[in-house]
Amino acid sequence: MDAPLSDPFGRTIRYLRVSVTDRCDFRCVYCMAESMTFLPKAEILSLEELDRLCSAFIRLGVEKLRITGGEPLVRRDILSFFRAMGRHLRSGALRELTLTTNGSQLARHAEALREAGVRRVNVSLDTLDPDRFARLTRRGRLDQVLEGIRAARVAGLSVKINAVALKGETEDELWALMAWCAQEGHDLTFIEVMPMGDIGNEMRLDQFLSLRDLRRRIEERLTLIDTPERTGGPARYVRVAETGQRLGFITPLSHNFCESCNRVRLTCTGQLHTCLGQEGSSDLRAALRASGDDAALEEAIRAAIRLKPRGHDFDYSRPGTVGGRISRHMSHTGG
Ligand code: SAM
Ligand code: SF4
Repeated sequence: MDAPLSDPFGRTIRYLRVSVTDRCDFRCVYCMAESMTFLPKAEILSLEELDRLCSAFIRLGVEKLRITGGEPLVRRDILSFFRAMGRHLRSGALRELTLTTNGSQLARHAEALREAGVRRVNVSLDTLDPDRFARLTRRGRLDQVLEGIRAARVAGLSVKINAVALKGETEDELWALMAWCAQEGHDLTFIEVMPMGDIGNEMRLDQFLSLRDLRRRIEERLTLIDTPERTGGPARYVRVAETGQRLGFITPLSHNFCESCNRVRLTCTGQLHTCLGQEGSSDLRAALRASGDDAALEEAIRAAIRLKPRGHDFDYSRPGTVGGRISRHMSHTGG
């Protein structure tokens, strides 16, 4: 292997998140606008281009690949891409191949994902109430997602649930979600909503629920014990003393975790974002399409990593404003 990728702040890049499509069958209120314009097909990297690019990252030391979107499982023939990436697991170059999904298509793909080498999936699920689910996703059906999760378990995949903390929703949803995850044996991670994509400034401030507040709320009923456990991502974990359940908190706003960031993100158009919370990006599609020379591609990747900033500027601390807003939708960069 070549020298690993490292950024100007001494962080080694081992984790690549790849958005394979900007499309989705849901329109979650914190992620997308009600009517979205999706990118023309020519802009999107082909599966062959994605393979070439991901393989270059893996040669440069990336050990963990997370496939996301948009909704990755709505992309046509995406399973062939998972199968192709499986060869890097078998060679030992890649330690983990995983995905983040809304779960709607999981029932029909779970088995094949397992065969391709996937062992864990993150399913985004903010509520167990069918009406609230329909309202938050604008067009999703809860029973379809629950069926997908069941299929994943039957196929032998471990499931982690990610829930975005939303003011006015999560405070009372929390107990049902925690109880269900404990009963089903799913880890549960809460995520602070980030100001990404234009869904209206007003709406963002209405949505934000600090995980510090959520944690305090949980601690009114249960004892939470901090643990040093990490799963390679940004979550910090606690154990619920009474049940042993593990809970994760992803707190980009109330506790900045940039100093240990080992991640970069590739959009479905081949733009490399070295920070989710900054506008800058490098055009790897241009490098990819300019020539078939992998050495030139690897040099373009190294040059992009040299631009990784120290951290994001998201900030809700000044009353009435949202600092550090990013114009991209989360579905474009991939969460
Ligand atoms: N469609 C898939 C899903 O929902 O899991 C994958 C893509 S989605 C963009 C990835 C994650 O980003 C989801 O867990 C979603 O809840 C989260 N997300 C979307 N918009 C967000 C925002 N503005 N702030 C924080 N998390 C967000
Ligand atoms: Fe789709 Fe995921 Fe965004 Fe919801 S969070 S709209 S499921 S991409």
